[in-house]
Amino acid sequence: ERVQEKIDYVFKVVVIGDSAVGKTQLLSRFTKNEFCFDSKSTIGVEFQTRSVTINGKVIKAQIWDTAGQERYRAVTSAYYRGALGAMLVYDITKRPTFDHVARWVEELRAHADNSIVIMLIGNKADLEDQRAVPTEDAVEFAEEQCLFFSEASALSGDNVDKAFFRLLEEINGVV
Ligand code: GDP
Ligand code: MG
Repeated sequence: ERVQEKIDYVFKVVVIGDSAVGKTQLLSRFTKNEFCFDSKSTIGVEFQTRSVTINGKVIKAQIWDTAGQERYRAVTSAYYRGALGAMLVYDITKRPTFDHVARWVEELRAHADNSIVIMLIGNKADLEDQRAVPTEDAVEFAEEQCLFFSEASALSGDNVDKAFFRLLEEINGVV
């Protein structure tokens, strides 16, 4: 049975970060509660949606995924246009993906709206034994740059909904 719902707001959210950090799987976990083990690198799909209720308002999150354009400066400004939120993802087991976060923040500051809400996500938290980025490093960076921060795992689902909800709640408070 499908219930027709009234949508109060559509929030565009972009997911960015280096290749293979788990952007597509985080999106899949949040919108479909699925994790795909043999996922190929992203092809074609522009965005996925999930509607949630926050403070009595039905919010349709329209979450955009990069189509394998993660190389520096390859994401076009059209991707960022109208985005109210960004999930900036790194992989806790790959130090360079965290070292590149500053570049992604620069990209956002250059191309996205000034008021964009940014959530830094340290993904693959299930791989604690392979950790290469201490949580404190990310906490410190997030504080400096005024970003929200959470570690999460698209694989286990840990903190995925929580992080997306936090971002959407924050956007809801801004609009
Ligand atoms: P993207 O290039 O950033 O979109 O990355 P993908 O979502 O395609 O994921 C890249 C690889 O990391 C795939 O092999 C995924 O199965 C794996 N992966 C994604 N998220 C997680 C996670 O939370 N934990 C683990 N262990 N692997 C993950
Ligand atoms: Mg992808």
